[in-house]
Amino acid sequence: MKCGFTLARKWHRKKEELFQNLLTQVIEQFSRVFKIDDLKTDVANHLAMLEKRVELEGLKVAEIEKCKSDIKKMRDEMAARSTRTNCPCKYSFLDESKRLVPRRDVPSYPKYMLSQETIEALRKPTFDVWLWEPNEMLSCLEHMYHDLGLVKDFNINPIILKRWLLCIHDNYRNNPFHNFRHCFCVTQMMYSMITLCSLQVKLSQMDILILMTASVCHDLDHPGYNNTYQINARTELAVRYNDISPLENHHCAVAFQILAQPECNILSHVDKEQFKRIRQGMITLILATDMARHAEILDAFKEILDKFDYSNEEHVTQLKMVLIKCCDISNEVRPMEVAEPWVDCLLEEYFMQSDREKSEGLPVAPFMDRDKVTKPTAQIGFLKFVLIPMFETVTKLFPEVEEVLLQPLWESRDRYEELKQIDDAVKELQKKKNESLAIGSKEK
Ligand code: 5GP
Ligand code: MN
Repeated sequence: MKCGFTLARKWHRKKEELFQNLLTQVIEQFSRVFKIDDLKTDVANHLAMLEKRVELEGLKVAEIEKCKSDIKKMRDEMAARSTRTNCPCKYSFLDESKRLVPRRDVPSYPKYMLSQETIEALRKPTFDVWLWEPNEMLSCLEHMYHDLGLVKDFNINPIILKRWLLCIHDNYRNNPFHNFRHCFCVTQMMYSMITLCSLQVKLSQMDILILMTASVCHDLDHPGYNNTYQINARTELAVRYNDISPLENHHCAVAFQILAQPECNILSHVDKEQFKRIRQGMITLILATDMARHAEILDAFKEILDKFDYSNEEHVTQLKMVLIKCCDISNEVRPMEVAEPWVDCLLEEYFMQSDREKSEGLPVAPFMDRDKVTKPTAQIGFLKFVLIPMFETVTKLFPEVEEVLLQPLWESRDRYEELKQIDDAVKELQKKKNESLAIGSKEK
């Protein structure tokens, strides 16, 4: 009996054990299933977190790019402010709101009484453009408008002429080369060519007004970095003008923004039709100063030279384009003492650009690179392949140009070729000296 009881207890214990094992297994299975679910939840949470982070990182990248562009804008604006004259009447192409506030007062620059000697000298390309303060250059420009009869023929208010010129001055920046003195040089050369080639006999007063006013305005608000930089750096100007002559388009736009101010509008008395023609003429001339179009413009002019007809409007337009181009790059036409400092100014501006291009990882043109260019090398190529051929072409229409404008170009070319020979000889000597020094140190 006792044995039967023990057996039953054993059996009962065994059943309990089996049940216990089964329960443990079921619990384990359950917990594994639940753990997988936990795992799934964990993985999903983790993925969501990662997605959020990727999204945030993406936003950060966009923010960084925006910051970079903001910093660049601020840098450009600071550079622009430091190079522009300190006057409230200035235009900033970086600002959305135009800050072209004209002076409403009567301009106060003293009316310089230009001496008869200065008046005579002003008509010639030998005029020393370095002798004059901005106010004196303003007086000279004012004199040219009066002397050519433009004030009378276009009924220009003399006070508005003064205000307009002041506004023009204030909208040129203090760049090494593209500054108000360059504007003065180009206009003074235009005045000289009008005199030299008797253009007032051959062209209309409207053409004379267009030639002079386009010269005055042709580099307005130049930032000191050329079109190539504008395009490669994708500046606001390049974006605005779709890489098509961004600078020249800008100079021209600023010119007409100035003229849109009644206080500075020297064209307030011309009728609508005349204004339209003057505007079109100025746009054509200012856009023609883009040197990227040099060959195209000169070739088209050569085509019509043999059959040139002053009564043909198209011919006259092409002549005016070549004339402004001549004046724009005419420094070497001037006496050597006047011309040479301009090369230093140009190279200073070139080096400022190439240094910036190097620091920004943009392509650098060899003719702007301080390690590759010298004054003679910069001038010889420009004289031989750009200046002399263009002035030779103009000589065909105006033979008087040869002695007065071409002769100095030939002389300048010869002088720079001599200077280059000296430079080359010095370099050769230096090279030999270095070689013998190297041999000497090896033998030791
Ligand atoms: P601008 O920029 O003045 O409207 O167009 C004239 C361009 O011709 C200048 O930017 C400059 O690149 C070039 N240029 C003008 N004068 C000289 C010069 O004397 N030498 C050289 N090498 N280039 C000149
Ligand atoms: Mn220019």
